[in-house]
Amino acid sequence: MTDLPASADVVIIGAGIMGCSIAYHLAERGQTNVVVLEKDFIGRGSTADAAGGIRMQFSTPANIELMQISFDYWENFEERFGQFINFRQQGYLFLLTDEASVAPFEANLKLQQSMNVPARWVTPEDIAELNPVVNLDGVIGGTICPRDGWADTSTSTMGFAQAARRTGVKIIEETAVTGIEVVDGRVVGVRAGDTRIAAGQVICAAGAYTGEIGKLAGVDLPVEPLRRMSWVTGPFDEIDPAVPFTIEFERSLYFHPESGGFLFGMSDPDEPVSWNKSVDQAWLVKTVDALVERAPVFANATVRNGWAGPYEVTPDHNPLIGPAPGIENFSVAAGFSGHGFMQGPAIGLLMAELLVDGAFNSVDLTDFRLSRFTEGDLKPEHNVI
Ligand SMILES: Cc1cc2nc3c(=O)[nH]c(=O)nc-3n(C[C@H](O)[C@H](O)[C@H](O)COP(=O)(O)OP(=O)(O)OC[C@H]3O[C@@H](n4cnc5c(N)ncnc54)[C@H](O)[C@@H]3O)c2cc1C
Repeated sequence: MTDLPASADVVIIGAGIMGCSIAYHLAERGQTNVVVLEKDFIGRGSTADAAGGIRMQFSTPANIELMQISFDYWENFEERFGQFINFRQQGYLFLLTDEASVAPFEANLKLQQSMNVPARWVTPEDIAELNPVVNLDGVIGGTICPRDGWADTSTSTMGFAQAARRTGVKIIEETAVTGIEVVDGRVVGVRAGDTRIAAGQVICAAGAYTGEIGKLAGVDLPVEPLRRMSWVTGPFDEIDPAVPFTIEFERSLYFHPESGGFLFGMSDPDEPVSWNKSVDQAWLVKTVDALVERAPVFANATVRNGWAGPYEVTPDHNPLIGPAPGIENFSVAAGFSGHGFMQGPAIGLLMAELLVDGAFNSVDLTDFRLSRFTEGDLKPEHNVI
């Protein structure tokens, strides 16, 4: 284990996209006595498993605002961080196959357009132009936002991590937090094995492990792991690599160009909460059947490899962001329920505002406060994949 400091102004638990972005933004605000503890390696948690999708098409004002801030980073990442992240703005194309989805999507579109998101409704004819390989059977219509796209998750996370390290932030890998000392409603230190670090503030950015970190601090943080699987095809040139990230919403079936082939996946609605990270061959068969049904040309593709990782799910599919009730200097940024990679930049900025200014100034995050579950005041996100 690397030598750990005896104290830090801020200890961040977890070096995924969230922990690294928060560390960078704290340093940018002059808070450089920051230690990030990561039990594995930088960006090797759920961040490594993500499909890299980045979209503005959400159903609540807070999520859209978080994405508007984040887009400013994604679109300017290389100039800002000197790091190429291969952000491909080829659009997110949602396909709807159930009449019941039309009204909510129209309402979402109205909200998005009122907030200057360049999303629009598309007819089956429009879809045929945007992605000619889509089998339009059963497709009622959909939406597209051409500004949406996808980027490389590993280089993005390293961009934040390296920028933070350049300012003196310590990101310490292979070091698990095993204890959190709370005295009189304040965290006084964290433990990593035999070592104790006295901490002024502690931030939990532990992704799917957040529930376990909550137990260490004695607070209920309702984040649970839910397995999701993705696969990539071998090299495949029978589809134009300029097609959008295409999602059949009702089945959460998606594909987008990736590394000369295509990345694809489908969410199993019956997947139980668990730490299972194995790839299920039976689900691969179902996913490929659905994929070939929606885009028959995939019958000619091969599957190169696949992986499974946990979504970090909360009861309303919205994150926990802010101070933990009952512990003055312990806050949380976790539970992004499958859309956290894309929100990483804005969350880092907002958590730095919370710690340095004492409040979220850029976006009203009241809906994501931790106390909403006990208050019974949930505002679920509709556009979850
Ligand atoms: C298959 C799949 C596809 C996805 N696709 C997308 C997508 O297209 N777009 C999108 O925006 N999001 C997507 N997501 C969701 C996205 O990956 C997550 O929302 C995001 O990465 C969460 O980032 P994080 O930093 O909060 O968590 P993580 O990346 O999981 O980071 C948390 C870190 O905390 C560390 N940790 C945990 N416990 C401890 C401890 N005790 N001590 C020290 N360290 C600890 C972990 O090792 C981990 O590295 C997808 C997820 C999956 C699984």
